[in-house]
Amino acid sequence: MRVQITVLSGGVGGARFTRGLLSLVEQRDLDAQVTVVANVGDDMWLHGVRVCPDLDTLMYTLGGAVHEEQGWGRRDESRRTSDDLAAYGLGWEWFTLGDLDLATHLARTELLRAGQPLSAVTERLAERWRPGARLLPASDQEVETHVETDLGLIHFEEWWVRHRAGVPARGFVQVGLDAATAAPGVVDAITGADVVLLPPSNPVVSIGTILSIPPIGDALRSTAAPVVGVSPIVGGSPVRGMADACLSAIGVETDAAAVARHYGRRAEGGVLDAWLVDTADEKAVLELRAEGWVCDAANTLLADVATTARIAETALRMGGVAV
Ligand code: GDP
Ligand code: CA
Repeated sequence: MRVQITVLSGGVGGARFTRGLLSLVEQRDLDAQVTVVANVGDDMWLHGVRVCPDLDTLMYTLGGAVHEEQGWGRRDESRRTSDDLAAYGLGWEWFTLGDLDLATHLARTELLRAGQPLSAVTERLAERWRPGARLLPASDQEVETHVETDLGLIHFEEWWVRHRAGVPARGFVQVGLDAATAAPGVVDAITGADVVLLPPSNPVVSIGTILSIPPIGDALRSTAAPVVGVSPIVGGSPVRGMADACLSAIGVETDAAAVARHYGRRAEGGVLDAWLVDTADEKAVLELRAEGWVCDAANTLLADVATTARIAETALRMGGVAV
Protein backbone atom coordinates (compact mmCIF):
# COMPACT_ATOMS: atom_id res chain seq x y z
CA MET A 1 0.00 0.00 0.00
CA ARG A 2 1.27 3.43 -0.94
CA VAL A 3 2.25 5.53 2.04
CA GLN A 4 0.30 8.79 2.04
CA ILE A 5 2.32 11.69 3.45
CA THR A 6 0.64 15.08 3.76
CA VAL A 7 2.56 18.28 4.48
CA LEU A 8 0.97 21.64 5.40
CA SER A 9 3.34 24.28 4.09
CA GLY A 10 4.20 27.94 3.84
CA GLY A 11 6.88 29.09 1.40
CA VAL A 12 10.61 28.79 1.93
CA GLY A 13 10.75 26.66 5.13
CA GLY A 14 8.03 24.28 3.97
CA ALA A 15 9.40 24.01 0.42
CA ARG A 16 12.93 23.23 1.57
CA PHE A 17 11.65 20.65 4.04
CA THR A 18 9.49 19.01 1.36
CA ARG A 19 12.41 18.91 -1.07
CA GLY A 20 14.35 16.92 1.55
CA LEU A 21 11.36 14.66 2.13
CA LEU A 22 11.04 13.93 -1.60
CA SER A 23 14.75 13.24 -1.82
CA LEU A 24 14.41 10.73 1.03
CA VAL A 25 11.45 9.05 -0.69
CA GLU A 26 13.53 8.70 -3.84
CA GLN A 27 16.73 7.53 -2.06
CA ARG A 28 14.86 4.81 -0.18
CA ASP A 29 12.66 3.93 -3.11
CA LEU A 30 9.68 4.41 -0.84
CA ASP A 31 6.27 3.84 -2.42
CA ALA A 32 4.84 7.12 -1.19
CA GLN A 33 2.52 9.86 -2.38
CA VAL A 34 3.41 13.26 -0.96
CA THR A 35 0.65 15.88 -0.92
CA VAL A 36 1.43 19.46 0.02
CA VAL A 37 -1.34 21.76 1.24
CA ALA A 38 -0.05 25.28 0.64
CA ASN A 39 -0.85 28.50 2.44
CA VAL A 40 -2.78 31.01 0.31
CA GLY A 41 -2.82 33.81 2.92
CA ASP A 42 0.06 35.69 1.26
CA ASP A 43 -1.70 35.74 -2.12
CA MET A 44 -2.66 39.07 -3.63
CA TRP A 45 -3.73 40.92 -6.73
CA LEU A 46 -0.92 43.13 -8.00
CA HIS A 47 -0.77 44.91 -11.36
CA GLY A 48 -3.87 42.94 -12.33
CA VAL A 49 -2.30 39.52 -11.78
CA ARG A 50 -2.82 36.97 -9.04
CA VAL A 51 0.39 36.34 -7.13
CA CYS A 52 0.62 33.22 -4.94
CA PRO A 53 4.00 33.47 -3.20
CA ASP A 54 3.93 30.22 -1.21
CA LEU A 55 2.55 28.05 -4.03
CA ASP A 56 5.20 29.47 -6.35
CA THR A 57 8.03 28.94 -3.87
CA LEU A 58 6.92 25.31 -3.56
CA MET A 59 6.58 24.86 -7.31
CA TYR A 60 9.96 26.42 -8.11
CA THR A 61 11.83 24.73 -5.23
CA LEU A 62 10.45 21.27 -5.91
CA GLY A 63 10.70 21.79 -9.67
CA GLY A 64 14.38 22.78 -9.53
CA ALA A 65 13.88 26.36 -10.73
CA VAL A 66 14.18 28.32 -7.49
CA HIS A 67 16.70 31.08 -6.83
CA GLU A 68 18.63 29.07 -4.29
CA GLU A 69 20.28 31.83 -2.21
CA GLN A 70 17.14 33.94 -2.09
CA GLY A 71 14.93 30.93 -1.30
CA TRP A 72 12.03 32.15 -3.47
CA GLY A 73 11.53 33.32 -7.05
CA ARG A 74 13.21 32.04 -10.20
CA ARG A 75 16.92 31.60 -10.73
CA ASP A 76 18.45 33.67 -13.56
CA GLU A 77 15.70 36.20 -12.96
CA SER A 78 15.63 39.81 -14.16
CA ARG A 79 13.39 42.70 -13.16
CA ARG A 80 13.10 44.95 -16.17
CA THR A 81 9.31 44.89 -16.18
CA SER A 82 9.10 45.60 -12.46
CA ASP A 83 11.55 48.51 -12.74
CA ASP A 84 9.64 49.91 -15.69
CA LEU A 85 6.34 49.64 -13.84
CA ALA A 86 7.90 51.60 -10.98
CA ALA A 87 8.56 54.42 -13.45
CA TYR A 88 4.78 54.81 -13.71
CA GLY A 89 4.52 55.04 -9.94
CA LEU A 90 1.87 52.34 -9.94
CA GLY A 91 1.38 49.19 -7.91
CA TRP A 92 3.72 48.31 -5.11
CA GLU A 93 7.19 49.61 -5.93
CA TRP A 94 8.72 47.64 -3.08
CA PHE A 95 7.40 44.30 -4.31
CA THR A 96 9.41 42.96 -7.21
CA LEU A 97 7.71 40.83 -9.82
CA GLY A 98 10.58 39.17 -11.69
CA ASP A 99 10.24 38.94 -15.45
CA LEU A 100 10.14 35.14 -15.50
CA ASP A 101 7.99 34.99 -12.39
CA LEU A 102 5.56 37.34 -14.08
CA ALA A 103 4.94 34.72 -16.77
CA THR A 104 3.68 32.39 -14.02
CA HIS A 105 1.35 35.10 -12.70
CA LEU A 106 0.06 35.91 -16.19
CA ALA A 107 -0.58 32.23 -16.91
CA ARG A 108 -2.34 31.77 -13.58
CA THR A 109 -4.45 34.86 -14.07
CA GLU A 110 -5.49 33.83 -17.57
CA LEU A 111 -6.68 30.45 -16.30
CA LEU A 112 -8.45 31.99 -13.28
CA ARG A 113 -10.19 34.50 -15.54
CA ALA A 114 -11.31 31.59 -17.75
CA GLY A 115 -13.17 30.34 -14.68
CA GLN A 116 -10.87 27.63 -13.37
CA PRO A 117 -10.48 27.33 -9.60
CA LEU A 118 -7.02 27.91 -8.11
CA SER A 119 -6.61 24.19 -7.38
CA ALA A 120 -7.07 23.30 -11.07
CA VAL A 121 -4.84 26.18 -12.13
CA THR A 122 -2.12 25.03 -9.72
CA GLU A 123 -2.29 21.51 -11.11
CA ARG A 124 -1.99 22.89 -14.64
CA LEU A 125 1.03 25.10 -13.81
CA ALA A 126 2.70 22.24 -11.95
CA GLU A 127 2.56 20.04 -15.07
CA ARG A 128 5.45 22.11 -16.35
CA TRP A 129 7.57 21.96 -13.19
CA ARG A 130 6.91 18.36 -12.16
CA PRO A 131 7.37 19.05 -8.45
CA GLY A 132 7.15 15.34 -7.53
CA ALA A 133 4.39 16.06 -5.01
CA ARG A 134 0.73 16.90 -5.38
CA LEU A 135 0.36 20.65 -4.73
CA LEU A 136 -2.97 21.79 -3.34
CA PRO A 137 -3.84 25.35 -2.37
CA ALA A 138 -5.47 25.33 1.07
CA SER A 139 -8.53 27.02 -0.46
CA ASP A 140 -9.90 27.94 -3.88
CA GLN A 141 -11.39 31.06 -2.35
CA GLU A 142 -9.33 34.17 -1.65
CA VAL A 143 -8.25 34.14 2.00
CA GLU A 144 -5.69 36.89 2.51
CA THR A 145 -3.79 37.60 5.70
CA HIS A 146 -3.96 41.26 6.71
CA VAL A 147 -2.13 42.81 9.64
CA GLU A 148 -3.60 45.18 12.20
CA THR A 149 -1.13 48.04 12.71
CA ASP A 150 -1.05 51.73 13.61
CA LEU A 151 -1.04 52.34 9.84
CA GLY A 152 -4.38 50.54 9.63
CA LEU A 153 -5.17 47.08 8.29
CA ILE A 154 -2.52 46.27 5.69
CA HIS A 155 -1.85 43.23 3.52
CA PHE A 156 0.62 40.80 5.05
CA GLU A 157 3.08 41.28 2.16
CA GLU A 158 3.04 45.03 2.70
CA TRP A 159 3.86 44.54 6.37
CA TRP A 160 6.48 41.85 5.68
CA VAL A 161 8.24 43.14 2.58
CA ARG A 162 7.72 46.89 2.70
CA HIS A 163 7.98 47.38 6.47
CA ARG A 164 10.19 44.33 7.16
CA ALA A 165 7.73 43.51 9.97
CA GLY A 166 9.09 46.61 11.74
CA VAL A 167 5.68 48.21 12.31
CA PRO A 168 4.25 46.59 15.44
CA ALA A 169 1.47 44.14 14.62
CA ARG A 170 -1.51 43.91 16.95
CA GLY A 171 -2.94 40.88 15.24
CA PHE A 172 -3.68 39.09 11.98
CA VAL A 173 -6.98 38.87 10.16
CA GLN A 174 -7.85 36.41 7.40
CA VAL A 175 -9.88 38.48 4.97
CA GLY A 176 -12.34 36.28 3.07
CA LEU A 177 -12.33 33.49 5.62
CA ASP A 178 -16.10 33.60 6.12
CA ALA A 179 -16.71 32.55 2.53
CA ALA A 180 -13.83 30.09 2.35
CA THR A 181 -13.70 26.35 2.48
CA ALA A 182 -10.94 23.82 1.89
CA ALA A 183 -9.95 23.22 -1.73
CA PRO A 184 -10.94 19.85 -3.25
CA GLY A 185 -8.72 17.06 -1.98
CA VAL A 186 -7.38 18.91 1.07
CA VAL A 187 -9.56 17.34 3.76
CA ASP A 188 -9.15 13.86 2.24
CA ALA A 189 -5.38 14.35 2.08
CA ILE A 190 -5.39 14.93 5.85
CA THR A 191 -7.98 12.38 6.94
CA GLY A 192 -6.66 9.72 4.54
CA ALA A 193 -2.96 10.24 5.33
CA ASP A 194 -0.65 7.76 7.03
CA VAL A 195 1.20 10.70 8.54
CA VAL A 196 0.75 14.48 8.49
CA LEU A 197 3.83 16.68 8.80
CA LEU A 198 3.96 20.31 9.86
CA PRO A 199 7.31 21.44 8.47
CA PRO A 200 9.27 24.34 9.98
CA SER A 201 6.94 26.92 8.45
CA ASN A 202 5.78 30.12 10.07
CA PRO A 203 3.31 28.92 12.75
CA VAL A 204 1.23 32.10 12.59
CA VAL A 205 0.91 33.34 9.01
CA SER A 206 1.69 30.10 7.12
CA ILE A 207 0.38 27.11 9.11
CA GLY A 208 -1.89 29.32 11.24
CA THR A 209 -3.67 30.64 8.17
CA ILE A 210 -4.09 27.15 6.68
CA LEU A 211 -5.58 25.91 9.98
CA SER A 212 -7.90 28.90 10.23
CA ILE A 213 -9.96 27.45 7.37
CA PRO A 214 -12.42 25.49 9.53
CA PRO A 215 -12.60 22.13 7.68
CA ILE A 216 -8.79 21.96 7.61
CA GLY A 217 -8.31 22.59 11.32
CA ASP A 218 -11.09 20.07 12.05
CA ALA A 219 -9.51 17.46 9.74
CA LEU A 220 -6.17 17.81 11.49
CA ARG A 221 -7.74 17.49 14.93
CA SER A 222 -9.71 14.39 13.92
CA THR A 223 -7.48 12.45 11.49
CA ALA A 224 -6.37 8.97 12.51
CA ALA A 225 -2.91 9.80 11.16
CA PRO A 226 -0.18 10.89 13.55
CA VAL A 227 0.63 14.61 13.20
CA VAL A 228 4.29 15.50 13.63
CA GLY A 229 5.68 19.04 13.67
CA VAL A 230 9.22 20.32 13.18
CA SER A 231 10.06 23.47 15.11
CA PRO A 232 10.67 26.60 13.04
CA ILE A 233 12.38 28.15 16.05
CA VAL A 234 15.98 27.15 16.71
CA GLY A 235 17.72 28.41 19.84
CA GLY A 236 15.14 31.15 20.33
CA SER A 237 15.44 32.47 16.76
CA PRO A 238 13.48 31.94 13.54
CA VAL A 239 16.75 31.17 11.66
CA ARG A 240 15.68 33.21 8.61
CA GLY A 241 13.01 35.83 8.35
CA MET A 242 11.00 37.56 11.03
CA ALA A 243 8.62 34.94 12.40
CA ASP A 244 9.41 36.29 15.88
CA ALA A 245 7.43 39.44 14.99
CA CYS A 246 4.41 37.26 14.10
CA LEU A 247 4.67 35.20 17.28
CA SER A 248 5.00 38.21 19.58
CA ALA A 249 1.96 39.81 17.89
CA ILE A 250 -0.14 36.87 19.08
CA GLY A 251 1.55 36.69 22.47
CA VAL A 252 3.65 33.57 21.87
CA GLU A 253 7.29 33.54 22.91
CA THR A 254 9.90 32.86 20.18
CA ASP A 255 10.82 29.54 21.70
CA ALA A 256 10.53 25.93 20.47
CA ALA A 257 8.48 24.78 23.49
CA ALA A 258 6.20 27.83 23.35
CA VAL A 259 5.40 27.15 19.68
CA ALA A 260 4.56 23.53 20.52
CA ARG A 261 2.19 24.67 23.27
CA HIS A 262 0.66 27.17 20.85
CA TYR A 263 -0.14 24.33 18.41
CA GLY A 264 -1.23 22.14 21.31
CA ARG A 265 -1.37 18.37 21.73
CA ARG A 266 -4.21 16.58 19.99
CA ALA A 267 -4.93 14.73 23.22
CA GLU A 268 -5.85 18.16 24.59
CA GLY A 269 -7.70 19.59 21.59
CA GLY A 270 -4.62 20.82 19.71
CA VAL A 271 -3.18 19.74 16.38
CA LEU A 272 0.06 17.84 17.15
CA ASP A 273 1.04 14.38 18.37
CA ALA A 274 4.79 14.85 18.31
CA TRP A 275 7.27 17.72 18.06
CA LEU A 276 10.81 17.69 16.74
CA VAL A 277 13.08 20.45 17.99
CA ASP A 278 16.67 21.35 17.24
CA THR A 279 19.53 20.01 19.36
CA ALA A 280 20.03 23.64 20.42
CA ASP A 281 16.70 23.28 22.26
CA GLU A 282 17.32 20.12 24.32
CA LYS A 283 15.84 21.97 27.27
CA ALA A 284 12.50 22.13 25.45
CA VAL A 285 12.55 18.33 25.12
CA LEU A 286 12.72 17.87 28.89
CA GLU A 287 10.07 20.51 29.56
CA LEU A 288 7.65 19.16 26.98
CA ARG A 289 8.13 15.50 27.87
CA ALA A 290 7.34 16.41 31.46
CA GLU A 291 4.05 17.85 30.14
CA GLY A 292 3.22 14.59 28.32
CA TRP A 293 4.52 15.46 24.86
CA VAL A 294 6.28 13.11 22.48
CA CYS A 295 9.32 15.26 21.72
CA ASP A 296 12.79 14.61 20.31
CA ALA A 297 15.76 16.74 19.33
CA ALA A 298 17.87 16.53 16.17
CA ASN A 299 19.67 18.91 13.89
CA THR A 300 16.87 20.83 12.15
CA LEU A 301 18.85 23.34 10.09
CA LEU A 302 17.66 22.99 6.51
CA ALA A 303 21.23 23.34 5.30
CA ASP A 304 21.21 21.21 2.15
CA VAL A 305 19.02 18.53 0.61
CA ALA A 306 20.87 15.58 2.21
CA THR A 307 20.67 17.11 5.70
CA THR A 308 17.03 17.98 5.18
CA ALA A 309 16.28 14.42 4.07
CA ARG A 310 17.56 13.22 7.46
CA ILE A 311 15.32 15.71 9.26
CA ALA A 312 12.36 14.42 7.25
CA GLU A 313 13.35 10.85 8.11
CA THR A 314 13.32 11.63 11.82
CA ALA A 315 9.92 13.32 11.52
CA LEU A 316 8.50 10.32 9.62
CA ARG A 317 9.86 7.91 12.24
CA MET A 318 8.22 9.96 14.99
CA GLY A 319 4.99 9.53 13.01
CA GLY A 320 5.43 5.76 12.89
CA VAL A 321 6.52 5.58 9.24
CA ALA A 322 9.64 3.46 8.89
CA VAL A 323 11.87 4.33 5.94
P1 GDP B 1 7.70 31.63 4.09
O1 GDP B 1 6.26 31.49 3.69
O2 GDP B 1 8.62 31.83 2.92
O3 GDP B 1 7.93 32.56 5.23
O4 GDP B 1 8.13 30.18 4.58
P2 GDP B 1 7.57 29.21 5.68
O5 GDP B 1 6.44 29.77 6.43
O6 GDP B 1 7.38 27.87 5.06
O7 GDP B 1 8.83 29.03 6.61
C1 GDP B 1 9.45 30.14 7.21
C2 GDP B 1 9.95 29.72 8.57
O8 GDP B 1 10.92 28.68 8.44
C3 GDP B 1 10.68 30.83 9.25
O9 GDP B 1 9.75 31.56 9.99
C4 GDP B 1 11.68 30.11 10.16
O10 GDP B 1 11.16 30.07 11.48
C5 GDP B 1 11.73 28.71 9.60
N1 GDP B 1 13.06 28.33 9.15
C6 GDP B 1 13.78 28.92 8.17
N2 GDP B 1 14.95 28.26 8.01
C7 GDP B 1 14.97 27.23 8.89
C8 GDP B 1 15.89 26.18 9.19
O11 GDP B 1 16.98 26.05 8.58
N3 GDP B 1 15.53 25.30 10.18
C9 GDP B 1 14.35 25.40 10.86
N4 GDP B 1 14.09 24.51 11.79
N5 GDP B 1 13.46 26.37 10.59
C10 GDP B 1 13.75 27.27 9.63
CA1 CA C 1 4.74 32.89 2.90
